[in-house]
Amino acid sequence: MINIKKFTFNSFAENTYVLWDEETKEALIVDPGCSDTYEEKELEDFISSNKLNVKYLVNTHCHIDHIFGCGFVKEKFKVPYYAPEKDVPLIEHFDKQVESVGMEVSIKPPLPDHFITEDLIISLGKSKPVFLYTPGHTPGEYCIYFPQDNFCITGDVLFQNSIGRTDFWGGDYNILLESIINKLLVLPDETIIYPGHSDKSTIGEEKRYNPFLIELINKN
Ligand SMILES: [Zn+2]
Repeated sequence: MINIKKFTFNSFAENTYVLWDEETKEALIVDPGCSDTYEEKELEDFISSNKLNVKYLVNTHCHIDHIFGCGFVKEKFKVPYYAPEKDVPLIEHFDKQVESVGMEVSIKPPLPDHFITEDLIISLGKSKPVFLYTPGHTPGEYCIYFPQDNFCITGDVLFQNSIGRTDFWGGDYNILLESIINKLLVLPDETIIYPGHSDKSTIGEEKRYNPFLIELINKN
């Protein structure tokens, strides 16, 4: 069984998730947004007090609010870093991303050790997440689906009552809708979604109440 802990970090109120297997304590850190030493310590203390063995660092996508803590996590826990290849320009232009939101440039995050593909196999205990390619918010974004555990990390693709913005570099509204329809709305209704911002929800709730999807579902 996979446990989930959500942290909400940085000035963008970004959700950082720690996922771990109950038995083996093997852990995966998704989208570490910790942006100062207090947030880094909060994450580190949680890992050590729960005696977790961090095995992977994974980014759903590479907007700054999701990668602020990548350097820290990689260095602290000595883990391989997985991210989407098509989002690498976002890491390379980290300075521009930071400047565009009026922040001061901090230390540039590392480049990934491995690229995510839909064939990527990793495991936490007996659970094997499935990587779903869901571009549109960024060109490379992936959602991370845990079929045995009935939940999906949806990054900035699908939120409670909303969907990802498409007005940043590489965003495309139609492609985002296609990703949501073809990759997320096909999951079982009871699948819990854990988005990159705000609260969790379920696929069924979003089909019923998400204003961006209701019209679309009725049309199809
Ligand atoms: Zn984003």
